[in-house]
Amino acid sequence: MAKQHHLRCEFCGREASSTLKVLQGGNSSICKECAMVISNIFSGNSSSLGPVTGDSAPELTKVPTPSEIKATLDGYCIGQEDAKRTLSVAVHNHYKRILCERKGSKYADKLSETLSNVELEKTNVLLIGPTGSGKTLLAKTLARVLNVPFAISDATTVTEAGYVGEDVENIVLRLVQNADYNIERAQIGIIYIDEIDKIARKTENVSITRDVSGEGVQQALLKILEGTICNVPPQGGRKHPHQELLQVDTRNILFICGGAFVGLDKIIQRRVGTRSMGFTNKSAENSHEEKQSLSLFKQVEPEDLVTFGFIPEFVGRLPMVTLLEELTVEQMVEVMTTTRNALTLQYQKLFAMDGFSLRFTPESLKTLAAQAIEKGTGVRALRGLMERLMMNTMYELSSLPEGATVMITSDVVRGKEKPVLIKKKKGKTGTEE
Ligand code: ADP
Repeated sequence: MAKQHHLRCEFCGREASSTLKVLQGGNSSICKECAMVISNIFSGNSSSLGPVTGDSAPELTKVPTPSEIKATLDGYCIGQEDAKRTLSVAVHNHYKRILCERKGSKYADKLSETLSNVELEKTNVLLIGPTGSGKTLLAKTLARVLNVPFAISDATTVTEAGYVGEDVENIVLRLVQNADYNIERAQIGIIYIDEIDKIARKTENVSITRDVSGEGVQQALLKILEGTICNVPPQGGRKHPHQELLQVDTRNILFICGGAFVGLDKIIQRRVGTRSMGFTNKSAENSHEEKQSLSLFKQVEPEDLVTFGFIPEFVGRLPMVTLLEELTVEQMVEVMTTTRNALTLQYQKLFAMDGFSLRFTPESLKTLAAQAIEKGTGVRALRGLMERLMMNTMYELSSLPEGATVMITSDVVRGKEKPVLIKKKKGKTGTEE
């Protein structure tokens, strides 16, 4: 309830938190992130890589600094400090590299002749972290910061060309579609490939049958990851001999691959030869299948990924590896209350539209967070739990007394009591549904 008194940014509506500073001036307030956007607009120095007008090439001007990128990520993603820092630097360098190739760019002008002949290699990123820890969220937010097209694909749906499943070209097609078929714009987009750990080689298969969804896919992905002219069927599906194909250069597309890599910690442990599991993240003390040993994961080397089942060339195409951790109870509570589309705010909005108030006690949110962690699907579990919790109250909302406040306590979350109803006029409390 103390949260009610927190400052809120009047531009984006988010509440001040440990990751979001909100400044108050006179009767209004603004968060750091919105202030930065406004400052860029006024200085005519938009830090986005777009927008694009018509079919023309995207207007590349300036790349946001790593700290600017991280500040935006902070607004959407709670925790994951290492991953946010690594990604901010990787993405900053990636787009600087693209700009550098453009004649007359402020980056190219600063280089001596020797240095301008040095070729900067592409740095695709591998995110290792449990499900629901924010891997997709980070990739999606990066594309938003930079105003570049973004597409998500699932590695498990792809198979080697000629086998049942999707061709790798469809991954690129999705990006082209999201760029409204503006090829030039698609060529500087970001592609997130989820479940990359599921295309690890199945060792038992090697000599008997072709591993069309494992090593075969890695081989097929290798080309687009390192940069190739990819022939994409405009309507998707398999290529036909007489079909006109779109030619997309993937050299400047940033690939971010993500996966939970269950079992990788055991491989690392075998290599480093330690018996100790080291410290684990607090919430990982809960026993569920994706419990991971952070200290081991932090020691990951390319050779561990090879032992896990990736071909060395593929590992080489993902030179930047970063880890995401399971969120703690406190971080889960922050997700529920301070992010842009925080669940509690969404329900409060639904209630407010009918003139009702909804309050959560701090304990109730902690209980909900603990239940979500127990489920082992990270932040993803929160929505389902919250929906189940609010179902009956939402159903009976129209029959509540006018202007009433519904209070959710931890006993309500545990199913031990019904939501507490605070009637408006007399200020009496009673327990009703
Ligand atoms: P995954 O790691 O499996 O890719 P996602 O990024 O898809 O997880 O997250 C699932 C849901 O949980 C999304 O709605 C996302 O917004 C939310 N979420 C996950 N991690 C965080 C986080 N660290 N901060 C804020 N929201 C998060």
